[in-house]
Amino acid sequence: MSVVVPMYNEAGNVPALLDRIVENVDGIDGAPTYEILVVDDGSTDGTADAVREELRRRPNLALIRLSRNFGHQLAATAGIELAAGDAIVLMDGDLQDPPELIAQFFARWRDGYDVVYAVRRTRKGESPFKLFTAGLFYRTIKRLTKVSIPVDTGDFRLMSRRVVEALRRLPERHRFLRGMVSWVGYRQTGVEYDRDERTWGATKYPIPTMLRFAVDGITSFSDIPLRFASYFGFSVSAIAFLYALVVVVAKLLRVYPPGYTPGWASTIVAVVFLGGVQLISLGILGEYLGRIYDEVKGRPLYLIDDIERS
Ligand code: UDP
Ligand code: MG
Repeated sequence: MSVVVPMYNEAGNVPALLDRIVENVDGIDGAPTYEILVVDDGSTDGTADAVREELRRRPNLALIRLSRNFGHQLAATAGIELAAGDAIVLMDGDLQDPPELIAQFFARWRDGYDVVYAVRRTRKGESPFKLFTAGLFYRTIKRLTKVSIPVDTGDFRLMSRRVVEALRRLPERHRFLRGMVSWVGYRQTGVEYDRDERTWGATKYPIPTMLRFAVDGITSFSDIPLRFASYFGFSVSAIAFLYALVVVVAKLLRVYPPGYTPGWASTIVAVVFLGGVQLISLGILGEYLGRIYDEVKGRPLYLIDDIERS
């Protein structure tokens, strides 16, 4: 088994996290051989030193240092690609994903499942705003995409070797791993859990980052927003046509609605409204175009500084 943990400024979480992972993996019956891969995503708080400290006294631990901060999804990708296990567990480094679930993941994997993901029954220590926006996001993406991405599910999961090999073949830069894993298919199942509070440090997903991640998720799995412009165009044209008809008929019959002053209001409304629709449509095009540009450059997803193993 490989346990992959991307970390960005999680120094204070390192010892407790590793203790709990080891305790739980050792507790699985048939005690699988394991490795723990900590990916240091360009931390500036001494996370690497905290892991080095552990390297001295623990076996089966590896520290993979990226050349700079690449972001959660890319750091996770780096770890997954370096993992050697037949079963690969991905989890956060802040103990919000309880290592106690690993045993359940492993049991399901032995039952023949390729992906076992953790479904958040409750989430402790999150603001009502985060809970609301997260709920909205998971339900929106479910409606917008054909791939069925499980609701209320993060990246905490176990994947089989063949799923990880399949993920390697999805080379996109703007990664929405939980969607990509769903896309791969095979046999997938969920395990429910209550998500804990972060034990130490602060979230690395402030609102702007969360928003970018949401847009990445939607644009990588749906082209419905691109069609938004045409839907809107058609609806507005249909309404405009009916309105034009009314105006012409009224003109011919010389009947005018009460309080009728020709021109002003309807012109302003039409200009403002159509201007808005056009800008939104251009913005959507821009989002996709920016992603195409990034993909076309074909740069590597991440760069590794060095790897230290115990
Ligand atoms: N993370 C990372 N690189 C980043 C941001 C976050 O490797 O640029 C890691 C972080 O250390 C943690 C995981 O990704 O292990 C999830 O981040 P966080 O707990 O801040 O997200 P939240 O739980 O608040 O959504
Ligand atoms: Mg967290």
